Amino acid sequence: MIVMKFGGTSVESAEAIARVCEIVRARLDQQPVVVVSAMGKTTNRLLAMARQAAAGHRDEALRECEELHRFHRAEALPLPKPEERALLEKFLDEHFRELAELLRGLAILGELTPRSLDAVASYGERLSSQIVAAALRGRGVAAEAVDSRRLIVTDRRFTQAAPLFPETNARLRRELLPLVRERVPVLGGFIGATEDGITTTLGRGGSDFTASIVGAALDAREIQIWTDVDGMLTADPNLVEGARRVKTISFAEAAELAYFGAKVLHPATVLPAVEKNIPVLILNSRRPQVPGTRIVAESVACRNPVKSIACKRGITVMDVHSTRMLMAYGFLHRIFEVFDECETAVDLLATSEVSVSLTIDNTERLDEIAARLRQFAEVGIEHRQAIVCLVGDNIRYTPGIAARTFGALAGINVRMISQGASLRNLSFVVAEDDAPRAVRALHEEFFREVDPEVFE
Ligand code: ASP
Ligand code: MG
Repeated sequence: MIVMKFGGTSVESAEAIARVCEIVRARLDQQPVVVVSAMGKTTNRLLAMARQAAAGHRDEALRECEELHRFHRAEALPLPKPEERALLEKFLDEHFRELAELLRGLAILGELTPRSLDAVASYGERLSSQIVAAALRGRGVAAEAVDSRRLIVTDRRFTQAAPLFPETNARLRRELLPLVRERVPVLGGFIGATEDGITTTLGRGGSDFTASIVGAALDAREIQIWTDVDGMLTADPNLVEGARRVKTISFAEAAELAYFGAKVLHPATVLPAVEKNIPVLILNSRRPQVPGTRIVAESVACRNPVKSIACKRGITVMDVHSTRMLMAYGFLHRIFEVFDECETAVDLLATSEVSVSLTIDNTERLDEIAARLRQFAEVGIEHRQAIVCLVGDNIRYTPGIAARTFGALAGINVRMISQGASLRNLSFVVAEDDAPRAVRALHEEFFREVDPEVFE
């Protein structure tokens, strides 16, 4: 048994879904369970219309709902068997009618609770799972859509719900194990429900999490995350022409990479799989012949100390200086209290005796943060910075990495340095405009020769 998860771009159109069907069909002997995201940008569009409606722009929200309806009809209706088309059409029409009702309700209430956000957001995966199941049947594959809300039982933290594992695992096994022997179950990712049946979501990008939960519950042999890139690469191919595919990477390395900008998958989402030692593969649904990247629990023997170079642009650096002569104890606490209360995550951190430098990428509440910090410190702010991050389990065992790194960067001003506590990454900040040059120089330094076992 394997779990195959297809992200939004992999199911963004009739053509993309047809490709997905062929990919699944070619793997029927492995007993796939399919998990799908909402089609293309559907989740963003749903959330936007919910906000519009609640802000009183009812007609705009309803127009956007109509537009999304048209899109789903246009892409979905060519896919099923002719005799199932009317049924799918009815399903779509009913669901969009319901969604419009919901939007009207939000417009009347004029408020948007996390619970209603989840109700609206859930439509994307509820629709895509039915559409993909119908498309599979349209291509002669016995498939059945399964409503994930019956299987993924969560707590009540709407928009960020956590699965209640014992109950979820029991339901997944009970429902899917018998089914998968006869048909391909198709589940919508991202969505679940509380014990009393109220719709929840697992947080943005949650479909990978669903895939991992399902795979772990069913003891899958492998979890395949089908997306629109060839896997994890040694660097962003838009920056580095000769970026290589990383064939195997440890979970810890993948986690560091995901954190610093490689948007392939969110590390926490594959944790259930990793804990059960189930390999997770990143594969490209546009180029299914490429073997992708395999994420495994343990670190992989590799002659290169660095596995990949990540780069996260659009970073803001804040320098916080203690206004007293010496940094009093409690200083860090007060700083972090501000970030905590302003719900803003800090990425990198470096401290000296009298100052703290840190980076954030979410500047929504920057003014408030700065104002509060200025009550007890001097604050400098610099925008348009970038974090460059070298990742590799071997970094900690290899002497001279820092020297090679900063040697390669000759001429580029390094603004802040942090060697992660994991010793698995070396991160630093440069001006955004210098980032491409920095990444290219480092790639040249660390990947001039590559271990053929690990890279392609
Ligand atoms: N559709 C959801 C999102 O866009 C979940 C996912 O695609 O993983 O966040
Ligand atoms: Mg995704």
